[in-house]
Amino acid sequence: MEFSKFKKQAEAHQGEMVDIRRHLHRNPELSYQEHETTSFIVEKLKELDITVDQPLSTGCVGVLEGGKDSDKVIALRADIDALPITEEGKHKEEFLSDNPGIAHCCGHDAHTANMLGAVRLLSEVRDQIEGIVLFIFQPGEEKLPGGGRLLCETGYLQEKGVDVIYGLHSYPGLEPGQIAIRKGALMARPDEFAIELIGKGGHAASPHEAVDPIVMASQVISQIQTIVSRSVNPTEPAVVTVGKINGGSAHNVIPAKVEMLGTVRTFAKETADMIRDRIEAITKGVAEASGGAYTFDFDYGYPAVINTEWAAENVMDTADELLGKQNVKLLDEPIMAGEDFAFYQQEFPGAFFFLGSGREETGSTYSWHHPQYNIDEDCFATGAALMASLVFQPIPE
Ligand SMILES: [Zn+2]
Ligand SMILES: [Zn+2]
Repeated sequence: MEFSKFKKQAEAHQGEMVDIRRHLHRNPELSYQEHETTSFIVEKLKELDITVDQPLSTGCVGVLEGGKDSDKVIALRADIDALPITEEGKHKEEFLSDNPGIAHCCGHDAHTANMLGAVRLLSEVRDQIEGIVLFIFQPGEEKLPGGGRLLCETGYLQEKGVDVIYGLHSYPGLEPGQIAIRKGALMARPDEFAIELIGKGGHAASPHEAVDPIVMASQVISQIQTIVSRSVNPTEPAVVTVGKINGGSAHNVIPAKVEMLGTVRTFAKETADMIRDRIEAITKGVAEASGGAYTFDFDYGYPAVINTEWAAENVMDTADELLGKQNVKLLDEPIMAGEDFAFYQQEFPGAFFFLGSGREETGSTYSWHHPQYNIDEDCFATGAALMASLVFQPIPE
């Protein structure tokens, strides 16, 4: 299979992918509520004569049976949900969200359009495909428990006998025509915690008659900063961030409680467990020493995205051939954002990579989840051709 043919075909179908992306961008839906989006995708798949399965109530899987007999099963994954964000942006005026307060600010509209482009390319060479290709249009990437997790829990993919899974994310830090990848750890596991520090409210001028949860909160926050510096192995990346703190009502009132929300980013479950225990121990210690009380909740999020070596090599080889070696960036370090693609990798070999989609001129260099997040639509030609080509890469015995 000559991958350059896919590149030419993808360029020819660029306009169609742009139309799909803009339609989805105009009609974003929140995680697990992607009903219209799903109907739209199902219709497109049927137009291309692809069988559609719906193991979950939103999202779907397109099944393409190759013309060459084989028991190979290759899965390609796109996510389809939008975010609760009011979007802005002068480069997307023509297709701004019609659904107030909801927007595709993580590029999942682009992932879907790109994947539908890959479906078209592969449907045109059906006879040359060995085995089965599954096109996963996954709901709920942005919200726990994660659509990837729910899909894995249905057993659908296990039943199909998936041999390898590939996925991508639009990436504002590189231009269209470039990709970035890493073997092994690529993205962190994002876990969340919530702390409530309970004191005793009173007059600000009589602190001795109150238990001040604001002082407790300040101690907890500064002490948990020592977890990464003193308790985590210094060769291992980890982050503890308190992202929200809420307490108090006036300058002269000691409040009864303070609430805090935060996130923990790690790569190993054991490290996340250790940090979880340390945060609780510090919170408990401070609350008890102050004569107050506390509640502590820790939500395990997605596992880390760890790329299977040979699958990552397949992506790199494909991209070298399609884009040229100079456009394939190997990341020195993993990034601390999370992705529920990780759930598939707990079950099957797989690789996830970043598709360059950022260019100043098209206002597409904003970071993920920024209200102005945009993608440079030139990335479709590259993305669709890459995804289609991956189907022809070897799977080790
Ligand atoms: Zn996102
Ligand atoms: Zn995303």
